[in-house]
Amino acid sequence: MSDRPSWPRQAFVAGEWRSAARTFPVRNPATGETLAEVADCGADEARRALESAVEVFPSWKNTPGAERSRIMRKWFDLMTAQAEPIAKTMTLEMGKPILESRGEAKYAASFVDYYAESARRIGGELLPAPAPFPHKRLLVRYEPVGPAYGITPWNFPAAMVTRKAAPALAAGCPFILKPAEQSPLTALLLAQLWEQAGGPKGVFQVLPALDPVPLSQVLITDPRIRKLTFTGSTDVGRLLYAQAAQTLKRVSLELGGNAPFLVFEDADIAKAAKEVAFSKFRNTGQTCICTNRVLVQEEVRPRFTEAFSDLTAALKVGDPMLEDTQIGPLVDQQGFAKVKAAVEDAVAKGAKVRVGGEARGGLFYAPTVLTDVRRGMKVLDEETFGPVAPVAAFRDEAEAIALANGTGYGLAGYLWTRDLGRAFRVSEALEYGLVGVNDGLPSAMAPHAPFGGMKDSGVGREGGPWGLDEYLEVKLVSLGLV
Ligand code: NAD
Repeated sequence: MSDRPSWPRQAFVAGEWRSAARTFPVRNPATGETLAEVADCGADEARRALESAVEVFPSWKNTPGAERSRIMRKWFDLMTAQAEPIAKTMTLEMGKPILESRGEAKYAASFVDYYAESARRIGGELLPAPAPFPHKRLLVRYEPVGPAYGITPWNFPAAMVTRKAAPALAAGCPFILKPAEQSPLTALLLAQLWEQAGGPKGVFQVLPALDPVPLSQVLITDPRIRKLTFTGSTDVGRLLYAQAAQTLKRVSLELGGNAPFLVFEDADIAKAAKEVAFSKFRNTGQTCICTNRVLVQEEVRPRFTEAFSDLTAALKVGDPMLEDTQIGPLVDQQGFAKVKAAVEDAVAKGAKVRVGGEARGGLFYAPTVLTDVRRGMKVLDEETFGPVAPVAAFRDEAEAIALANGTGYGLAGYLWTRDLGRAFRVSEALEYGLVGVNDGLPSAMAPHAPFGGMKDSGVGREGGPWGLDEYLEVKLVSLGLV
C-alpha cells in the first residue's frame, strides 16, 4: 500500500483546502475497500466558491494570455511529472485497467498542453467598413463568457476535467468543478497540482459532493455563473439544460451514446474483429464512445462472430492494478446491475450467449458476446455501459445506415470497409458527431479535434478551437473615425 499516492481530502475552494461539515467515502470497486473520506460539499461551499470565482474573474480575464499560458504550461509539466500517481489514483477509485489509466493521464494532460498554447493566441479581428459608412472600423473581440461550472462523470476522472477546465482557463474563465462522487480523488490531485503551478486563488476550484443537487442548485440558478458544462448521462443532461435556461447560460452537454460498429463484407475480418473488441471492451465497456452494437453484413457474420468471440474469450479479467489486466470491475453496484439486467433481458427474449454472460464475483462481469439479438432488447436499444457485445446482421448498405441511425443517440459511429466510395457514403450518412472509418478510437490523443454528439448525445463540442469557442463571447466594437 506504500506506493499509493497521498490524496488531498478537503475541498479546494478560494485557493484553500477546506473541510466540509460531512465527509463521504471513496471506494475501490475492485475490492470494496474505502480509500479515503473526502469533504462532502453542499450549498455553503458552493456559495463560497461562487463568490471567489466572481471576485477573481476580472483579474483572470485581464491577465495577459501569455501569463495564463505560462501557468497552464506549468500545470501541464506537473501533470506529466505526476502521471503515474494520477494513473494509479484513477485505477484505484474507478477500476480502469492501469495501462489505460496511464493513457488517460497523458490524454488529460494533452488538453492542458494544447489550450496553454491557445491562451496566448486569443485575439480579435478587424473587419472592413460597411459600404455606406467608410469612416467606420468594425472590431471583433473575443472575451471570456465568465465564471463557469463543470460537472464531470467517473469514467474519465482526469480527461473529462481537463477537456473542460483547460479551454475555460485559457479563455479567462474561472472554473468551478464538481467531480463525480465515485472519483473525486483524481480531481483533487489535479487541484493540488494547479496550486503548485501557482494558479491564482479561486480560478480553479474543486468541490466533491456525494449529493450533487444542493451544490449545483446554487451554481446553476445564480446568473453570475455564465457557463454550464456537463458530461454524463442524457437524462441528467436534459434536466440541467432546463435548469440553466432560467439564467440563459451558455451550455455544453456531452451525453450518452449507443454506438454502432458496422462491419461490411469487404472488411479485413481479422483486423475489424480486433478493432471492434478494442472499441467495445476499453475501460470495461464504460466509455461514452464504446461500441454498443456490432452490426455485421450477413455474408461475413459467421466468420466475424467467430474471430470476435475468440478475442473476447481471451481477454484477461482481474485486478486492474496488474499490467496485463484488460477487464476490470464495473464502477459500482448500479453499473453492475445494469449490465446483468441487460444480458438477462436479452437471453429471456431469445438471445444466445456465445461468450461470457456471467458474473465473476464482486463487481466483475465476464466479457460477453451475444448473438440472435433483435430490436426490443435492452442490449441494442440502450447504452449498456459494460463489457457486453450484441452482434446483429444487416443485408446491405441502406439497411446498415438505417439500423445505425435508428437510435436517439448520436455520439460515435464506426464502420469497417475497404471500399472508398462506401467509406464516404456511409460516414456522410451517419448521424453521429464522431465517425471512425477503420478506426475504433477516433478521439485518441487528439486534443485538437472536435469531440461531441448530435441528437440526444449533446450540445456543443469539446477539443480544438471548437472547445475554446464554448468559453468565449464575441463582441463587436464599431469605431467611427471622427
Ligand atoms: P450521471 O449523469 O449519473 O453523472 C454524471 C455527473 O453528473 C456526476 O458528477 C453526478 O454527480 C452528476 N449529477 C447527477 N445528477 C445530477 C443532478 N441532478 N444535478 C447535478 N449533477 C448531477 O452519469 P454517469 O453514469 O456517472 O456517467 C456515465 C454517462 O456519461 C454515460 O451515459 C456516458 O455515455 C456519459 N459520458 C459521456 C461522455 C461524452 O463526452 N459524451 C463522456 C463520458 C461519459
